[in-house]
Amino acid sequence: MRSRVRSNSAEANILHADLDSFYASVEQRDDPTLKGRPVAVGGGIVLAASYEAKAFGVSTPMAEWRAKRLCPDLIVVPPRFDAYVAASSAVFELFHSTTPVVEPMSIDEAFLDVGGLRRVSGQPVDIAARLRRSVRNDVGLPISVGVATTKFLAKVASAVSKPDGLLVVPAGGELAFLHPLPVSRLWGVGPKTNERLRARGIFTVGDIALLDEQHLVALLGKGAARHLSALAANRDPRSVETGRRRGSIGSQHALGRARLSPAELDATLLGIVDRVTRRMRTANRVGSTLTVRFRFGDFTRSTRSRTLSHPTAATEPIAAVALAILHHEWARIEDNGLTLIGLSVGNLLDADHTPEQMLLPFGRKPTSALDEAVDDLRKRFGNQAVTRASLVNQKGQETPKLPD
Ligand SMILES: [Mg+2]
Repeated sequence: MRSRVRSNSAEANILHADLDSFYASVEQRDDPTLKGRPVAVGGGIVLAASYEAKAFGVSTPMAEWRAKRLCPDLIVVPPRFDAYVAASSAVFELFHSTTPVVEPMSIDEAFLDVGGLRRVSGQPVDIAARLRRSVRNDVGLPISVGVATTKFLAKVASAVSKPDGLLVVPAGGELAFLHPLPVSRLWGVGPKTNERLRARGIFTVGDIALLDEQHLVALLGKGAARHLSALAANRDPRSVETGRRRGSIGSQHALGRARLSPAELDATLLGIVDRVTRRMRTANRVGSTLTVRFRFGDFTRSTRSRTLSHPTAATEPIAAVALAILHHEWARIEDNGLTLIGLSVGNLLDADHTPEQMLLPFGRKPTSALDEAVDDLRKRFGNQAVTRASLVNQKGQETPKLPD
């Protein structure tokens, strides 16, 4: 018989691991004078608040002046995204050493499937406890973990267990756990929906489960009603997906044997940057690791990587770093010629869950206005309709057309 890799859905094998007050916890870890004190990370807007600050009602996102009114002793520190990206990488290494099935959700949060590990690593509750200990000991941060039969329920469980908690919802006990919870715990129930439900006397998840679905449709519309009914019954067939959403986005361009001028090489690389970042924006992904590949005229190769200060899909910062890498190789290119150049951006995250996204007015994509305008024109008029000024080299020629 073949061994089962995927978890048996009848067992509570799914972990949702979520760092507590991530940015604020990193600040408290790195500056001992902040320990035990109300801390907010931000500038103008609160991006993260320590639990000491949350006790005063400080939440995210909130204007700094409002937060200080609620909590006069609040210490506001500016964000250090380098430190958060480094801490996140260290935590994700621990996730990956726990199980091969890791699905990143954001910079500080992931689903892990530990089904099929019972014989090697023990029960999910023990695996979760060990993971929490290693994150605390090795990275110095508190992390909450929920364990359940479905992703949705594991996420609810981690939220309920916070701060610094571990909560297991045993198989068979799902509805007993879920139904007494307030409806606002359901994914997709914001303040507005919550208000509408409360006005009809619907307070708990159990109230929703008891409701005729037609009633709910009349109240919230078909889509939301189906979604909430499914959640209230703990119907969530999604498995923990690894790989598909990770990896990198890249493109390369063969240059042939002709020697190109520095300006032509710059333009070629900018064309590749433009293509790659456009694909990232279309996929709603941002990345923090940039790799440029070179193949020289003598068939030797070189690969250079740089880590960006924070994940992005914007053309300008990626172009700046890519060009710096190209110029660094210039002596070797002059000696041997260059026959291929490629660029890929890795460590991809969902754009909606990144530090950069949180810095922007809410709901905006982490791209420049220029990127958005250009993407929009291309969508309407086709790829070749728009050539940016920066992609036109000094001779006024367009960037060489690149293979898709
Ligand atoms: Mg978190």
